[in-house]
Amino acid sequence: MYTKLLFELSKEGREGHPLPEIDVPEKEITSLIPKEHLREKSADLPQLAENEIVRHFVELSTLNHHVDKSFYPLGSCTMKYNPKINEQVAALPGFARLHPEQPLQKAQGALQLMYELQEYLKEISGFTGITLQPAAGAQGELTGLLLMKKYHQMKGRNREFILVPDSAHGTNPASAAISGFKIKTVRSTASGLVDLDDLKAKTDENAAGIMLTNPSTLGIFETQLKEIRRIMDEVDALMYMDGANLNALFGIVRPADTGFDVMHINLHKSFSTPHGGGGPGSGPVAVNDKLKEFLPVPVIDKDGEQFVLKEDLPNSIGKVHSFFGNFAIFVRAYIYLRIVGNKGLPEISKHAIVNANYLKAKLKDIFEIQYPAPTMHEFVVSAENQKKRGAKALDIAKRLLDFGMHPPTIYFPLIVKEALMIEPSESESKEMLDAFVKIMLQINREIDDNLEVVTGAPHNTPVRRLDEAGAVKKLNINYFKHRQ
Ligand SMILES: *Cc1c(COP(=O)(O)O)cnc(C)c1O
Repeated sequence: MYTKLLFELSKEGREGHPLPEIDVPEKEITSLIPKEHLREKSADLPQLAENEIVRHFVELSTLNHHVDKSFYPLGSCTMKYNPKINEQVAALPGFARLHPEQPLQKAQGALQLMYELQEYLKEISGFTGITLQPAAGAQGELTGLLLMKKYHQMKGRNREFILVPDSAHGTNPASAAISGFKIKTVRSTASGLVDLDDLKAKTDENAAGIMLTNPSTLGIFETQLKEIRRIMDEVDALMYMDGANLNALFGIVRPADTGFDVMHINLHKSFSTPHGGGGPGSGPVAVNDKLKEFLPVPVIDKDGEQFVLKEDLPNSIGKVHSFFGNFAIFVRAYIYLRIVGNKGLPEISKHAIVNANYLKAKLKDIFEIQYPAPTMHEFVVSAENQKKRGAKALDIAKRLLDFGMHPPTIYFPLIVKEALMIEPSESESKEMLDAFVKIMLQINREIDDNLEVVTGAPHNTPVRRLDEAGAVKKLNINYFKHRQ
């Protein structure tokens, strides 16, 4: 059924829901609408019964993999289970129907929620200032880099480049480039840490700062932050933390205490809330006192018992989003934090770390591990071994789909050959982890016993192997055009 569109299922005269006869004369309605906006013929809409429509969409909703369907161990991007109560609260009419232009007096509850969320995030990160405006991690990076640029400009200088380790997420150099900086790539050592000699050699008076992910995209905690801070301080450069991996540090490490000046937080990764498929996200940016005066306006603040918006920041970089950012995501993250509470936060990180290390221990005999340092909430294995026997990381990823599991992130970070980057998250049970291991062992056996079943995968999905390069370069999402 799923290959058919509603238009193809349509049968002339079928109705979803019979409406009563219209009792306003048609002329009276059409006289109110400007002529150029009136249709000449009726819209060509599909005609179906209600149950056909419901079944169609329920069917569609299960075609793609999602975290409500099964395991989704996507490294870096933290696909944890999203508690449904977050959705229920975000859908309450008082939140969902609130208009951003509502007088402040009538939106005190919403402002209070944003203010308290800011306070929680400041406490978790250790920073003193914050903006909720950025709509994603990448936009948080852009915002943070603009704050860093402003810091240097206020000191009367234009710093030229940003230092970025070779293990960085692609958005780091991209954001730096969009902010007008050049990028200098810093090598990693054999143990996956920043190569300090390389960093020293590349740092000079033209450095605006460094962007680091901690734990890194290898899942390894960067232990040389003090030394990195010292190198940056020599030229008054700043330290930016990509906080996408904050879920490994809750209640254990506060990034501000480890030397960073600014970080972004991915609410849609660390604090549940749905993402993937391009849904809305939220990437708040937290800063220390050096950068506070440059934060985007309005700043949400408290004045006595009132929650207020402060616009009078003469050195602000300006707005980075309309109104306040993606409010419905704040509601979800806020509810998640309120339910988890102070006690639960470190438990999340500890469970995420234990789950990842459990999987790593179970998989380390079949996959090569190029960076053997202890890992936190995620780890990276290499399928070099498997590639020599005929199946690449991509083939293994595709074969996993046949078993109803989402593959891990593949070919990232770039410094690991045939990388599979696995992050189970704290929200999975031991049974689920064991099921995943069993499938990985089976796929590993299939490479020797039945290679074509792996290299030809997926077999059980609605569509087979897609031409991924073609899909990017020749994007054609118009079904009717496609059919012609
Ligand atoms: C996800 C991610 C980003 C980008 O965040 P978005 O919200 O997807 O824009 C940046 N860095 C790392 C390490 C990430 O995992």
